[in-house]
Amino acid sequence: MSAEQFAVISLSGGMDSTSLVLHYLSKQYNVTAISFNYGQKHVIEIERAKSFVQFLKDSNIHIQHEIADLTSAMELFKSSLISKNEEIPTGHYEESQMKSTVVPNRNAIFSSIVFGKALSIAQEHKASVKIGLGVHSGDHAIYPDCRPEFYDAISHAFFIGNWDSERVTFDLPYLHGDKTTILQDAIDSCKLLKLEFDEVFKRTITSYEPDGEGRSSGKTGSDIERILAFHSIGRQDPIDYQSSWEEVLQHALQVEAKFLDEKYKSTLTDLEYYVTRKSGTERPFTGLLLTEKRDGTFTCKCCDHPLFDSNSKFDSGCGWPSFHTELEQANIVRIEDLSHGMIRIEVRCPKCDAHLGHVFNDGPREFGGERYCINSVSMNFESKEDNS
Ligand SMILES: [Zn+2]
Repeated sequence: MSAEQFAVISLSGGMDSTSLVLHYLSKQYNVTAISFNYGQKHVIEIERAKSFVQFLKDSNIHIQHEIADLTSAMELFKSSLISKNEEIPTGHYEESQMKSTVVPNRNAIFSSIVFGKALSIAQEHKASVKIGLGVHSGDHAIYPDCRPEFYDAISHAFFIGNWDSERVTFDLPYLHGDKTTILQDAIDSCKLLKLEFDEVFKRTITSYEPDGEGRSSGKTGSDIERILAFHSIGRQDPIDYQSSWEEVLQHALQVEAKFLDEKYKSTLTDLEYYVTRKSGTERPFTGLLLTEKRDGTFTCKCCDHPLFDSNSKFDSGCGWPSFHTELEQANIVRIEDLSHGMIRIEVRCPKCDAHLGHVFNDGPREFGGERYCINSVSMNFESKEDNS
């Protein structure tokens, strides 16, 4: 590497910022991490951040780690994360009761300090500096200061308000990803850095409410999100919970299922809900997409997962939209269905488990002989003609 590259990251001790540090280290950046003590109840996260930095050091990887003490300033604020007499809510992380875990203006304050540090490094080394942010698509509506438009606006203000600010840029490597993408990136970074993934992540903490030994109940919103992310990459979370991994995982899956069910109930029509979530069937010859003949893609009603291309649709005369082939990357799930005294193959969305319909063996021979018989209300249609 010709010139030295610098990155500054706010390191909370949680999995996103830990992954970010690994991300820049694996790309051979000189990394400075700042952890903030703002009087959070889960101040143990700073101990975890220190332990991670020490682990890196023991593995011969060096970063600068600063701890900024903001306790007296942030004592002025109200949030269940700080106030001793306010309880931290449990449940799903997208529910509105989680709003009490918002700390007023937190990311604006942290960003100001991180920007100040980045600018100081830029001036000292006459170099350009990246500020790494873990912003991702799963950042929630209740944390408006996690959104990219917030960072666009605040960085604009910093650039106007400082000399040499052209040396500093904001970098958002996870912008289009989610918690799963972040953990997958961390797996890749660990390989490059020759670090044991579990050894790194057992030194992180995500809970807002750990017990005296730093173990979480697994029931706060941020716990549940973390547990589901590890589950989605097919790994057990290496940190200890107050109960077994099987129990916390089961609980997280139940909370997620209940949350999604309520979401579907409020966003789908009664018929769409009945068909997709309760494996119902629409009456034949009633579906809007039955006669759809334009060029385009048929997607899952509940999650927009692409299922069929219009060129595989044919008129079977059965009264439901019929397709002979699914899209190559659709990966539609097949399940033996013994209901109604018949043996049929049911098909479901691989991403959100929506019931789509059935597949039969009376399709056109020249295309393999299958007929996907799909409920019109289980799908959306995206026309190519509309976009052109
Ligand atoms: Zn779906």
